[in-house]
Amino acid sequence: MNIIKSFLTKLIYKTGNLILENYKTKKIKEKNIMYYSFNKNNNHIGQVTIFNDIIINKTYIKKHNINFELLIFHELGHKKDNLKIVLMILASFFGIELICASLIFLINIFTYIISFENIINGIITNLILFMLCSWILELRAEFYCAKTLRYNLWIKKRNLLKKTKNSFSFFENLIYYVTHPPIKLVIKLFSINYFKKKLI
Ligand SMILES: [Zn+2]
Repeated sequence: MNIIKSFLTKLIYKTGNLILENYKTKKIKEKNIMYYSFNKNNNHIGQVTIFNDIIINKTYIKKHNINFELLIFHELGHKKDNLKIVLMILASFFGIELICASLIFLINIFTYIISFENIINGIITNLILFMLCSWILELRAEFYCAKTLRYNLWIKKRNLLKKTKNSFSFFENLIYYVTHPPIKLVIKLFSINYFKKKLI
């Protein structure tokens, strides 16, 4: 990672020092996954950055006993997703519209220029479209993870992880579920014969 990219990554994602690591695996043909690790006692698990680098918070995964293989293959799924840019642009567009509609709602309380019905319709429509793009992004990454691990191993690891509790605040949980489908739903969806056949 060059100096500028490393500086910006630390600044945007508040990671502190980043260490380049290599995860060796026989499950993909490249045989290894390069990622950056950092140690921060917060609720940031890890993600793929805008520079398409995988970053992982080792402190969080140790504290919450997160299965590393599940996490790294999920993030690799994001990194390799060729629809990621399109879905992210769409999600950002609907996200901005959602913020604007919410602000108009607040202003309208005092001014009452537009009918509330129209504003609420705008909020709900943009919220649904934003969630749809975000959930598709997450489902695609998780599908890659399940396909790489194969269904039986994936479901075993996922079922174990389902029981671990996060330490998110109410607001963090709200953001999480707007951007991520509940894991129980993902398990049910991938267990449908149509998907399961592709994962075995
Ligand atoms: Zn994800």
